[in-house]
Parts: sequence; C-alpha cells; structure tokens
Amino acid sequence: MAGGGSGTIPATLTIDLGALAANWRLLRDRAAPAGCAAVVKADAYGLGTAPVVRTLWAEGCRTFFVAHLSEAVRLKAEAPEAVVYVLNGLLPGAASAFVEADARPVLGSLDEVQDWAACCVALGRPLAAALHVETGMNRLGLAPADLAALATSPLLGAFEPALLMSHLVAAEDPSDPTSARQVAAFAAAREHLPSIPASLANSSGISREDCPAYDLARAGYALYGGNPTPGEPNPMRPVVRLEARIVQVRDIEAGARVGYNGRWTAPSRRRLATLSVGYADGYPRAASGTDEAGRSDTPRGAALVGGALCPFVGTVSMDLIVLDVTDAPIAAARRGSTAVLIGDALNLDEVGRRAGTIGYEILTSLGPRYERRYVGPA
Ligand SMILES: *Cc1c(COP(=O)(O)O)cnc(C)c1O
Repeated sequence: MAGGGSGTIPATLTIDLGALAANWRLLRDRAAPAGCAAVVKADAYGLGTAPVVRTLWAEGCRTFFVAHLSEAVRLKAEAPEAVVYVLNGLLPGAASAFVEADARPVLGSLDEVQDWAACCVALGRPLAAALHVETGMNRLGLAPADLAALATSPLLGAFEPALLMSHLVAAEDPSDPTSARQVAAFAAAREHLPSIPASLANSSGISREDCPAYDLARAGYALYGGNPTPGEPNPMRPVVRLEARIVQVRDIEAGARVGYNGRWTAPSRRRLATLSVGYADGYPRAASGTDEAGRSDTPRGAALVGGALCPFVGTVSMDLIVLDVTDAPIAAARRGSTAVLIGDALNLDEVGRRAGTIGYEILTSLGPRYERRYVGPA
C-alpha cells in the first residue's frame, strides 16, 4: 500500500475495519460459550467510535463498555439498541443523566449503589447496572466486605444487578501470580451473588486457559490488533497502519548534529529523511534517537523505508521526525516516498516498546492531523 494518498497529505492513518471484524470473530469464538463485549472507551482506543461500533454491531456485538458517560451517548447515536456499560461509574448527581442516555453505570462503591438505587426508586423502575468488585487493582470497585453486605441488603432489590465484574491486573503476563489470586477472589465474591452474570477477562484473559470467561468477556486492545499474548506470536490481524511521506532528504558529514539541542551526532557520513509527524501527532517524544540512547542500547523509534528499518535520529519535534535512511534502498528514500511508522514489522507492540510505553498508549494518542482512511466493511 505505497503512496500514502495524494501529494498534499503528509501522513495517512489507515484503519482496516475488515481486520477489526475478523479480530472480533476470533475473540468471540475464543470466549464462547461466554458472550463477548467490545471495550470502545477513549474513542475506540483512538480509532473512531462511529466506524468501530458500526462494524462490531454488524458482526453481532451487542454489549459495549466505555469509560465516560459522554462516550456512551456517542455510541448510542450509532447503535441505539446497544447495551452500554460505563466503567468509571457514577459521580454524585449523575444518575439521572445515565437514565436519560439509557447507559448502565458500573457501580464501584456503596455510595454509587445507593445513588443508583435511590434514582431507581424515585423512577419506580429497577434499572440495570453492573457491580464492580475489587480483587487486586485498588482503583475502582466494591471492597469484598461491602459486596457481602450488599448481598443481604434491600438495596439490591431496588435496581437490576445485571453483571458482576472485576478487572485483571496483569493478565498479559502468565508468570505473574496476581491473576490466580484475582480469579480466586472473584470466585469468592460470586458466592455472595451467584445468580448475577459474571465478567472478568480482558483481551489477555480471553487468551488464557486459567482465566474463566464466565458469562461475558470484555475485549479491547486485541480487537484493534494488539497482541494479547506478549512473547508469543500475535494471533490478531493488524488494524492500524500509519504512513508518512518523506518531505526532505539530506546528506550530512560525520560529527554533524541533528535536531533540538543536537542530541544525536552522526558517527559517519549519513543520509537523513524528514517526516511530517511529531509529538503533536501523538508520536511519543520518548522515542527520540539520542546519542545516549544509542550508547545504552535503549530502544528508539524507527520507520520502515523500502522495507529497511530506519532509526529516528535526534529528538522527535512537535511536527517532525528525522530518520537515518542510509541503509534503505536509494529508490525508496526519496522526497515524496512513503515511510511506515506503524505497520509490518513495526507493529503496535513494537512501536510502544521503542517509545518506552505500550501499544495501548500509541493507539489512544493517535493525533487528529492524520488523514484517516477506513477500509473494509461497514
Ligand atoms: C480497558 C478495560 C478492558 C479492556 O482491556 P484490554 O486489555 O484492552 O482488552 C476491560 N475491562 C476493563 C475494566 C477495562 O478498563
């Protein structure tokens, strides 16, 4: 897919909705007989709520998770029949806005439960909500003792507890014993409320034998092409491809420095290429190619030019990145030709690693200046 659009477009983000749909089917099949919900918080991990939700709805996905109520409202505009849970719960005074939006709060404290129950009593309708029980994250969720108290409380009759959930701390790391402790803690919590459908697994949890999917899995990152099983081959199809045009090429002599504060020095005569992408586009400045990074073997950012891996040199600027294209095929390292920033060997997880972060942050930072192209169904 060379070219990257017409001459006026500096960088193109291609989002493959066919691959998204295929990833959904794979995760759904892995989660079965449990159901599978899609996590579409943060604008569907940066890829666009509307096209992502339309695609997943067409594939048969009916339950979605977002973080904020405003995200639920946007989702409902695409899929009015969708069941939408709002992970971050209920702020004081927010309950009626949830009712209006037909969104289900994920209740994480007795105060939130009381607010929701009071709202339902006032309306005379026991509306659905999820209960989040704390099993190790210490972020959101009812303490197990509070859940036990709730199990015998009349509050429980005031609303419809439609889902009991918790969230895994380190599901992507099979060597971390926390997951087994969480599975045990969740099983204990379920004994208080055995008749409520349960949900524990995220993308990585779905991919593990030792993590039950219960009634509903919650797939996020893997839908968008991230590897749910780091260290093993990625079973997911890539969804995102980021390509930028080379705006200038120059040759520099040994000893010349590149970029702000001259933090990279050419060790020999080098050929450089400059791309119209920078940290203002969400590409992390931490991926800069500095002399220190080179000395310590710290991973640094790179792009593929004619298939060759070309490292970043100098600091990532607000709007520009400089690559060392000395080893790229000459015909591919020309003004106007295309460099791949995300795609092929530079998959999401690798791009995250090279920036000292994770693919999730790469996705959710993808900036608004890219020309977005949606390909495939929906
Ligand atoms: C974000 C999130 C998920 C999805 O996790 P992935 O690792 O992206 O699959 C599931 N559950 C909760 C509570 C989350 O916050």
